[in-house]
Amino acid sequence: MSAYEWIEKSLGTIHRANWYRSVQTITGRSGAVVEIERRSLLNFASNDYLGLAGDDRLIQAAIAATKKYGTGASGSRLLSGHREIHRELEKAIAAFKQTEEAVVFSSGYLANLGAIAALVGSRDLIFSDQYNHSSLKNGAKLSGANIIDFAHCSLEDLRNKLDQYRSQHRRCLIITDSVFSMDGDLCQLPELIDLADKFECMLLVDEAHATGVLGATGAGCVEHFGCTGKSIIQVGTLSKALGSLGGYIAGSGKLIDFLRNRAPTWIYTTALSPADTAAAYAAINIVKTEPERRRKLWENIKILKKGLANLNILPTESPIICLELDQAKAALEMGKKLKEKGIFAPAIRPPTVPTSRLRFSVMATHTSAQIEKLVEVMGKIM
Ligand SMILES: *Cc1c(COP(=O)(O)O)cnc(C)c1O
Repeated sequence: MSAYEWIEKSLGTIHRANWYRSVQTITGRSGAVVEIERRSLLNFASNDYLGLAGDDRLIQAAIAATKKYGTGASGSRLLSGHREIHRELEKAIAAFKQTEEAVVFSSGYLANLGAIAALVGSRDLIFSDQYNHSSLKNGAKLSGANIIDFAHCSLEDLRNKLDQYRSQHRRCLIITDSVFSMDGDLCQLPELIDLADKFECMLLVDEAHATGVLGATGAGCVEHFGCTGKSIIQVGTLSKALGSLGGYIAGSGKLIDFLRNRAPTWIYTTALSPADTAAAYAAINIVKTEPERRRKLWENIKILKKGLANLNILPTESPIICLELDQAKAALEMGKKLKEKGIFAPAIRPPTVPTSRLRFSVMATHTSAQIEKLVEVMGKIM
């Protein structure tokens, strides 16, 4: 028996459950249409909600920054990796989110791991929505705090558990996605803020899928719900609607100052590359100056929701629209059929989600005709 034999067995189990995953190669630039296996497919699988990842202005900004600073930052921010553009990006994020300060991480995943691990420890308590993103869940584990899951979006369950457990712990942190990444629904932010206030808890909201998408200026769910300026911890990514790579935390000056001294995934990792930093900075400017992109995105969402209304669509208030299916196998087969008909949309299966589904992401750069095409194909294959 080799010490590694279990890996093959484990892979076998993954295959038998229809949980096996592999990559698909996209050739060419990101966009509403992508080329896969030499075929052009309509892209409903991208987090690039505003179509900025293939935008010439982001590309030019990345090239210019690379020419000026080189390809790698060559060190952590605190040692030798810090550049003026990192600071400019952080100021732009803070202005966009209307917070005192912001700090950028190398990814959204690392932002969650680092912030949560810095804010709470073994004497503390975390309340976590059961459908939270993997980075929130693993951040909670890394912190060593006691973790209590509450039922998805259930304020009642959260309140009961706060009543029962809050007083026995020192600090307490409530963590939640703002737009749930695999369902597309929203957390009840104003009510969560009230509960956090009442029970003296910190509240961390993950705006990964909301930034650039929700709110009058695209600042996210916090803005959408009129909660701008409240004392909460906002996490987000530069990698979805902002078309680049990286993550951030936005909040009070003291919070950010503390994280720069205590978040291990910020202190002990290389600073964001000049190209990613400059592209994200350019994206924030575009989000601010081109609200028509967001308007078009929401028009497209409306058309698709209407077109799929008689199917088993999960409740959604975002560009993420999911069709629930009984079996992982059914989801995989539907994904294949869609691909044959020229549409790229992923089957999402356990263990990522409790129930299998097809997940469509709408982009601002889809034409109405492209959305109609998806509706027509779904009508045929269902
Ligand atoms: C994508 C995502 C992240 C991770 O962001 P990256 O920048 O891709 O690492 C974190 N939280 C949520 C809710 C996400 O959907």
